[in-house]
Amino acid sequence: MIEVQHLTKTYRVPLKEPGFVGSVRSLFSRAYKDVEAVKDLSFTIQQGERVGFLGPNGAGKTTTLKMLAGLLHPTSGAVKVLGARPQDRDPAFLRQITLVMGQKQQLLWDLPPRETFELNRAMYGIPRPEFKNTLDELIALLRIEPLLDKPVRNLSLGERMKCELAAALLHRPRVLFLDEPTIGLDVEMQVQVRQFIAGINQRFGATVLLTSHYMQDIAALTPRLLVIDEGRLRYDGALTELAREMAPERRVVVRGVEPALTALGFVEDGGKMVASVAPEAVNALLTRALAAVPLAELGVEETPLEEVMGRYFRKRDPAPPEGAP
Ligand code: ADP
Ligand code: MG
Repeated sequence: MIEVQHLTKTYRVPLKEPGFVGSVRSLFSRAYKDVEAVKDLSFTIQQGERVGFLGPNGAGKTTTLKMLAGLLHPTSGAVKVLGARPQDRDPAFLRQITLVMGQKQQLLWDLPPRETFELNRAMYGIPRPEFKNTLDELIALLRIEPLLDKPVRNLSLGERMKCELAAALLHRPRVLFLDEPTIGLDVEMQVQVRQFIAGINQRFGATVLLTSHYMQDIAALTPRLLVIDEGRLRYDGALTELAREMAPERRVVVRGVEPALTALGFVEDGGKMVASVAPEAVNALLTRALAAVPLAELGVEETPLEEVMGRYFRKRDPAPPEGAP
């Protein structure tokens, strides 16, 4: 479905000396620096899967998504999406995928979304009745009816993102590449966009490959994770497996400040008492905590995903320095 083999992307960046003289000089000289954004990446994704693509800033996520969507040519390696080579930009292929970038917009600023939708209809050659059905469905799912005729520049960021998603899905793509689709949105809007993406995956069996800085997106949407760092694949597997491996302990939380619990290993944390223990020790600790504080309000939590990922990136082997023997 999506097959990536030994994929590599090296950007060639002209070296510019500082200042005006430097600018002029770099017009003539040919000094370049190579930035290896993606290195020897291999993975496979099946139709209908939802996969989270995680990694620190600059890890190579956007570069990879652009190669999968056919916006960038790989330096080496092979990519196949739905049987096509994305970089060939075959119209039949482009009609089956979409790339949404939270930080870029395709809606035209001065026009109402409805007109951009119409332009997309023409561009993708979507037959009218099908277009109307899909649009009605997207309008209902995203609740954007009141926004359709307002100029895009008058919409809030969240409203704009919902219209972006509608524009990106009008042609009913089978593969969705989503690059930070919830960035900058308020929590309520993040939830709506998340539910929408899950719905599209369930209703149409669309494949979703998604990057996000919001761990809630990942936790809610993508049971499988690809983790990359410095252009290399570091993990490919279940989110639960990674959490189990990196953060097997549970947090037992008691509401209120209860000094009596410190003897049991609890520490105070923002008006709560918290203790981390192995899963098999949770029940015993709950019993002892209730004995010490009879009416305690207790909860048991898993380690937050942020913390899991933090540990993952702290633990990983540092890459050898460039040019090391
Ligand atoms: P991510 O999306 O994971 O933050 P990117 O794919 O945007 O990472 O970037 C990976 C690396 O490639 C970074 O070091 C970045 O600075 C570099 N890079 C990205 N785009 C370009 C470009 N157009 N020209 C040169 N370097 C780039
Ligand atoms: Mg990026």
